[in-house]
Amino acid sequence: MRYKILGKTNLKVSELAFGAIQITRIDQKEAINLIRFAYDSGINLIDTASSYFNSEEILGKALKGIREKVYVISKSGKRDKKNFLQDFNTSLKRLKTDYIDFYLFHGISKNNEFDQIEEAGVIEALVKERDKGKVRFIGFSCHNPAVIEKFFKVKDFSILMIPLNFITTEYVEESLLYKFNQNKTGLLAMKPFGGGRLMDIEICFKFLRQYPQVIPVAGMQSIDELKQNLIYIGKDDNLTKTDHKRIKELSEELGTKFCRGCGYCMPCKEKGIEITDINFIEVYYKQFPHDVFWNIGLDKKVEVARKCIECGKCSEKCPFDLDVSEIIKKNIAFFDGLKKV
Ligand code: SF4
Ligand code: SF4
Repeated sequence: MRYKILGKTNLKVSELAFGAIQITRIDQKEAINLIRFAYDSGINLIDTASSYFNSEEILGKALKGIREKVYVISKSGKRDKKNFLQDFNTSLKRLKTDYIDFYLFHGISKNNEFDQIEEAGVIEALVKERDKGKVRFIGFSCHNPAVIEKFFKVKDFSILMIPLNFITTEYVEESLLYKFNQNKTGLLAMKPFGGGRLMDIEICFKFLRQYPQVIPVAGMQSIDELKQNLIYIGKDDNLTKTDHKRIKELSEELGTKFCRGCGYCMPCKEKGIEITDINFIEVYYKQFPHDVFWNIGLDKKVEVARKCIECGKCSEKCPFDLDVSEIIKKNIAFFDGLKKV
């Protein structure tokens, strides 16, 4: 395993981070073995969140005896001080630790979400926890490039998690990359395989290799998957002409259907459709434990989504010009297909 310095944190982290949402889908003993296998393979950076079901609890058990040798990222999506700190302390308890290496504001994807945590003193509260030694570095995860400017506003932020793959490239446009480099931002790439939609792992890693300052966070749920990722992350090759051609083909194929989950199209004032959840049904199915997938209220949301009148108002708000009602239809069909099995 090779290691890199993660921006201004100066921590030496493995060039592949383990995304721990999917370990909640497998048997707990198997999940613990998988984490230990990842650690033995040299991975020293693990990503979880307070909302990732029992992921933190599993990690608490899996990291027994090696906690100090691993860097843990966790997050809370709460926007008020009381609930955020409650999540933070629960994360500490579940992870069986007295400090967390990185704690992030989860999913800051709209400017007003940032304003909310700033005005409610939540950022200040997390800085205080950091000063007490309970967290080492802070920042946020984000699904909308338009919010990144807010990141640079806070001098205490050192780590940013963004979706990055060969379809989602808005975050690495020249001017933003320049700012990240100036700011020495520690960059973590979520969805390196587009939430399972970009099937060519080799090309995905080659694409990310162009950005040496970025650490991909790959969700994994089996040793085989991990081994496969280790093979490709360990290579040095760059994108070839054939890869560029393949990227072009895949981008054209997926470009008009690939929802990034930024939520800009919301709310649906016409019918109250939960567009992002509907658009992510297939991704949720691939990531969540199946018992959870069937219990997050999708049935009801799908029933509401069936009422879409295809007015196109959401598409007008989508920065990626997606045909949102088409994506909704496709996900409803996927959901209905699952019900028939
Ligand atoms: S197209 Fe459908 S989801 Fe979009 S705003 Fe209209 S009713 Fe809502
Ligand atoms: S449809 Fe467009 S605006 Fe809505 S969540 Fe997806 S990418 Fe964002």
